[in-house]
Amino acid sequence: MPLLLKGSCRCDAVRFEVESHTPVPFMLCYCSICRKQQGGGGFAINLGADYGTLKITGKRNLGVYRAEIEDDEHPQCEISSGERNFCKKCGSALWLYDPTWPELVHPFASAIDSELPKPPEKVHLMLKYKANWVEPDVGKKDKVFDVYPQESIADWHKRTGMWVD
Ligand SMILES: [Zn+2]
Repeated sequence: MPLLLKGSCRCDAVRFEVESHTPVPFMLCYCSICRKQQGGGGFAINLGADYGTLKITGKRNLGVYRAEIEDDEHPQCEISSGERNFCKKCGSALWLYDPTWPELVHPFASAIDSELPKPPEKVHLMLKYKANWVEPDVGKKDKVFDVYPQESIADWHKRTGMWVD
């Protein structure tokens, strides 16, 4: 059975539930979008879950932000295909949905109220774009990346034995 993640915004105007085979909060993204929209400590943590099982209450309170990106990886300014969903009342960032991978949704770990497994090791990505004052807390088994890792969220869970069947 996949793990049922239960999440909400701070003011409770939006609640959601979604099933996940990959619920470990191991992936810390330091990119400027995650950091500004959601990551007060210099990064945001994205989970992977099954979009087909996403149930939302308070949908009318959702706002969607699509970032404009212009950096080394995107020299031409483009609008991100990622749809960052947040509560219009309190501003909590909730999840990212990208139609490029329609079967997946990426809830922010910070929006989840139910228990999540502790990561045995972590991945720090987009360090090229981290704020200069941020000193990543890199554990012995952690991996660091300037941009993206090759290993997917699913593959990481399978390798570390954390995949939830
Ligand atoms: Zn709210």
